[in-house]
Amino acid sequence: MEILGNEENGFSRPWVIAGPCSAETYDQLYAVTKSVYKLGVKVVRAGVWKPRTRPNNFEGVGAEALAWMESIKKEIGVKFAIEVANAEHVELALKYGIDMAWLGARTTVNPFTVQEIADALKGTNIPVMVKNPVNPDLALWMGCIERIANAGIQEIAAIHRGFSSYKKTRFRNEPLWQLPIELKSRLPGVPLLCDPSHIAGDSSMIHEISQKALDLNYDGIMVETHPDPDNAWSDPKQQVSPGQLAEILKDLKLRQDTCDDSLFKSQLEELRNKIDSIDHDLVENLANRAKIIEEIGQYKKDNDVTILQIERWNKILRSRKEWGQPLGLNAEFIEELYKAIHSESIRKQTEIFNRTPQSPK
Ligand code: PEP
Ligand code: MN
Repeated sequence: MEILGNEENGFSRPWVIAGPCSAETYDQLYAVTKSVYKLGVKVVRAGVWKPRTRPNNFEGVGAEALAWMESIKKEIGVKFAIEVANAEHVELALKYGIDMAWLGARTTVNPFTVQEIADALKGTNIPVMVKNPVNPDLALWMGCIERIANAGIQEIAAIHRGFSSYKKTRFRNEPLWQLPIELKSRLPGVPLLCDPSHIAGDSSMIHEISQKALDLNYDGIMVETHPDPDNAWSDPKQQVSPGQLAEILKDLKLRQDTCDDSLFKSQLEELRNKIDSIDHDLVENLANRAKIIEEIGQYKKDNDVTILQIERWNKILRSRKEWGQPLGLNAEFIEELYKAIHSESIRKQTEIFNRTPQSPK
């Protein structure tokens, strides 16, 4: 797939897309467009129809904002990107010459809606960005990208905006960085952008999350920017002012994706060899552990004892975290690791429990 936003499209990497959560009034949109354009931003985002989780919230001004965009573009050399959530949105966006569209997290989850949008996009060639679905389901995210690609759209990018979780964390939407990394490895030709605003839910975290995305070699960021964030009609806490955006952009460190220095290369290779050898031992140890699990499974089965022994499991979790702590290992990491090891152990033992006795030959 072609790279979205080549130079000719007004981009240089990393791409910075900025603009308000919602277009509210002509003056608000004009003011923010003018300010971010001065910072070098070439693509302005603005929600026109807002997918609100609960009713009775501001749901966007609708098609009226498309006319504002059309008129602002005559004066300021930017492109506008909006969210489309059904075929009618696509038709209106095209009618008003909107430059780019994105599918929101609540749309990506629904293959029927995605297909409807893909069908409406057929025969056009505007760049389309696909946000991750609200739930951490890589197949849905990829499926949405594939449906858009099958409609003939050539410039497609993915946007990582984090995932809802029942658990309260410091993020509005948990980033689960492993998922976008997996997307990147499965679809290497699809540029990946980060939306730190919806991951954070709080403007104070935008810099930190954007830097992390750039350090993971993302292709760009989409930052919600409002001329007066405190009085925004939607998502006030997470929007930055153009002044704050300027500070963030100034402070972000851009790192190259590789370095040709031969000393760097040889030292990195040496360290990577060490990692390979440690990982080899790790895998061998896991295999040895798995053999003992089989014995345990058989032993429990022979004695009619349940697979799950909750005291033992709690003890494993506690002790492994205690072992890791003086060694500088993060307790959450140990917990995640052991949850994976334990669930595999349960899977293996279940397999043993379900084995029917071999009939005598
Ligand atoms: C948005 O970009 O304003 C938006 C509604 O995002 P998401 O689909 O990520 O919730
Ligand atoms: Mn928003």
